[in-house]
Amino acid sequence: MKLSELGEFGLIERIRRSSAKKDFQAPIGIGDDAAALLCSPGSALLATTDMLIEGVHFDLATTDMGSLGWKSAAVNVSDIAAMGGSPRFGLVALGLPQRTTVEQVEEFYRGFGRLAGRHGMQLVGGDTCGSRSGLIISVTVLGEAKRKEIVARSGARPGDLVFVTAKLGDSAAGREFLKSGSGGRAQGSRGRSLGPKSQETGVRKLIEKHLRPEPRVAWGRKLAASGCASAMIDVSDGLSSDLGHICDESGVGAEIAEERIPLSKELRSAKGLRLPALAYALSGGEDYELLFTLPPAKRKKLRSLRIPVAEIGVITKGPERVLIDAQGRRTPLIPSGYDHFAGARAGKRRKR
Ligand code: ADP
Ligand code: MG
Repeated sequence: MKLSELGEFGLIERIRRSSAKKDFQAPIGIGDDAAALLCSPGSALLATTDMLIEGVHFDLATTDMGSLGWKSAAVNVSDIAAMGGSPRFGLVALGLPQRTTVEQVEEFYRGFGRLAGRHGMQLVGGDTCGSRSGLIISVTVLGEAKRKEIVARSGARPGDLVFVTAKLGDSAAGREFLKSGSGGRAQGSRGRSLGPKSQETGVRKLIEKHLRPEPRVAWGRKLAASGCASAMIDVSDGLSSDLGHICDESGVGAEIAEERIPLSKELRSAKGLRLPALAYALSGGEDYELLFTLPPAKRKKLRSLRIPVAEIGVITKGPERVLIDAQGRRTPLIPSGYDHFAGARAGKRRKR
């Protein structure tokens, strides 16, 4: 169905019916001038927003609207997770090109709703506009955390250990397979399936990690509530850049052991990638894992939380950030993640 057949308010009404539910925490949601939301007593409100722009962050030839809805929620929820908080409410602003169908918008909200539902987040508002330059998505997420539990980027101290959850680099490798066409087309908007059955399951896993990242909300909450983490960030731009943000905000340096950086077996065994596996972890980005620091005395407590983590290095007085290889050779760890305004340098490597 064409958007023009429904009109702006018809579309909003559909979104409202399919997504919103009555919630005691949101006595007024979609449908009024603003949503009215309740916060838990003693909690701080966390607010974050991220945009996804067609041609910059995604390509509709390699992603589907459901994955896009999922991912636009996930990248924002991940920022709440990195503070140690819980997501509560989401707002979605859409700039829709004329060619968009009602079904595509509904598919977007199904993906968004699936991710939101997993983390107890409710859609409470947004905005809907026509766009003359591709699809534009802006998501705002409100979350909450107990004031004392919030983990900032600025808390790392010399001697703290550096940890990261799960594995790094899968998403960037998956993006490369998608772009090169060897991963097959994404499911959905164009009615094609995720590529031939014979396709290596490993590659499919990498692509899945790129299209539908899992924000680490439960792990972030545990790390915050236990008082383990001294500083935390989610890995959205690649280890080199995001570790740099912790160091900058904390006024410290870091030494990272190259061979301790956790790489999945799918990434290590993937054939046909342009770069060595490690490069995807250092500068690929969009992993949405948690990178955090920990005073050494808290190591045992961390273990008791049973979160899959890798200890990859140590915080120093700095300011140098150094990568140490298996032979003990030291090279500067230069932020090499995506920079929207860095021009050709980053643009050549990837769009995100
Ligand atoms: P206003 O003109 O006051 O900004 P709108 O007509 O833009 O109101 O929005 C009406 C209601 O629908 C508001 O509650 C708004 O938050 C919600 N809304 C608008 N667009 C969207 C959307 N794309 N997704 C979710 N909620 C939306
Ligand atoms: Mg409006």
